[in-house]
Amino acid sequence: MRRCLLICVLLLAGCQSMVEQSSFAATVVPSATVVTISQPSTLVPTANLAPSRTPTLPPSATYTPSPTPTATLTPTITASPTITLSPTTAPSVTPIASSTPTDPSSDPNYTPPPTWTPPPANPAAQIADHYVFGRPISNNGVDWIDRVYPYGATAGGTFATHHGVEFVNPTGTPILAVGDGVVHFAGSDLATTYGPSSDFYGNLVVIQHNVTDVDGQGVYTLYGHMNTVDVQVGQPVRRGDRIGTVGASGIALGPHLHFEVRVGNPMDYFATRNPELWIRPYPTYGTLAGIITDADGNRLYSAPLRVESLDITRYTWSYNDDSVDPDTTFNENFALGDLPANYYEVTVSENGRVRFRQIVYVYPNRTTWLNVVLNR
Ligand SMILES: [Zn+2]
Repeated sequence: MRRCLLICVLLLAGCQSMVEQSSFAATVVPSATVVTISQPSTLVPTANLAPSRTPTLPPSATYTPSPTPTATLTPTITASPTITLSPTTAPSVTPIASSTPTDPSSDPNYTPPPTWTPPPANPAAQIADHYVFGRPISNNGVDWIDRVYPYGATAGGTFATHHGVEFVNPTGTPILAVGDGVVHFAGSDLATTYGPSSDFYGNLVVIQHNVTDVDGQGVYTLYGHMNTVDVQVGQPVRRGDRIGTVGASGIALGPHLHFEVRVGNPMDYFATRNPELWIRPYPTYGTLAGIITDADGNRLYSAPLRVESLDITRYTWSYNDDSVDPDTTFNENFALGDLPANYYEVTVSENGRVRFRQIVYVYPNRTTWLNVVLNR
């Protein structure tokens, strides 16, 4: 069975919305800028692209002679201003301390990609990551976010804009609370609607956590399509507590956990955030996030992003529309988690033409930020 068949689907999506989902449009004057974009599966391989970057190395270390000839030289890493933050969100980038991670290219066993730049002194370290949650599935099950239908995406125009993420697991797989809190809701949403329609999430649990967003609003997590619900409203839970099991209740084509983060009103289907920016990466993995815009700075919907290292290739899209919120801290329009720390070639192509290409280093256990500005 194809994995996409396991994905919950909003049956209310009409033809018009499907057209919008498959478009690739700027937020401003969309009628003049709507461009059809090929699906990632048909993207032209980037290997045949002419190299556009020169392997010049900006000075990355300066050495201070010690006062005595026997003292050890200490390198001081200088920030490389290759990534700038959004002028609208503007967490300021300040010079990086000398204790930032070591350039992996200094490892004698490290083999750099054919074309590469050294990793920037980590600008993500200046961003207030808020990876306060664990995983809702233990590592005995599939604890990775499904990549076919990520947050804000449509699985290539197949489904409605996704307000959460999927953990595809067999029926009966235990579901765990991702953080400490109190059970806010537990049971069927036949009478209490948490999705766009009644009985959308079937049996679900909503937990109110002991954390707030940067603006002071409450933070909730939602677990949908459950087979069994093992907790009651008002019950305190700790991270890792079993709260139920995976099922396919509500509108789901197969067993999986639909997981959401909501901020503010827990019943508001339009108050979601991207869970990839709340679930802590594993220690050697990181998250790539940023904003995709056209050359004029207009945020683009459903722009396909190809992220490739020497080991893996992943795809994602910028958010399909404004029905899903960006993060309060980041104001991103894409985020891709569970990336092994490494160099990646990030590419956006349109009808075979490369509109953006850059090598970035994704740092472990944190967010690496990338502004993606397409050429004209
Ligand atoms: Zn889902």
